[in-house]
Amino acid sequence: MLEMRPNCECCDKDLPPDSAEAMICTIECTYCAACASERLKGICPNCGGDLKPRPMRPARWLQKYPASTRRVHNPDCAA
Ligand SMILES: [Zn+2]
Ligand SMILES: [Zn+2]
Repeated sequence: MLEMRPNCECCDKDLPPDSAEAMICTIECTYCAACASERLKGICPNCGGDLKPRPMRPARWLQKYPASTRRVHNPDCAA
């Protein structure tokens, strides 16, 4: 089950569970599409893995399996 973190780790932009902009790596470091492509060139600076679009979680699933509210923010995230 994905954590569905609520923000971009680089710029702290909000990334709700239905965001089409959220990008994640294999260990769920989470970034917005702009940071993922421009700042990070598609590679996660924490683990070196590639970044992929995060699947959206349908509303009825969110009731049962809520998205994470724990914000992770690392302003020095640039690769
Ligand atoms: Zn960002
Ligand atoms: Zn990572």
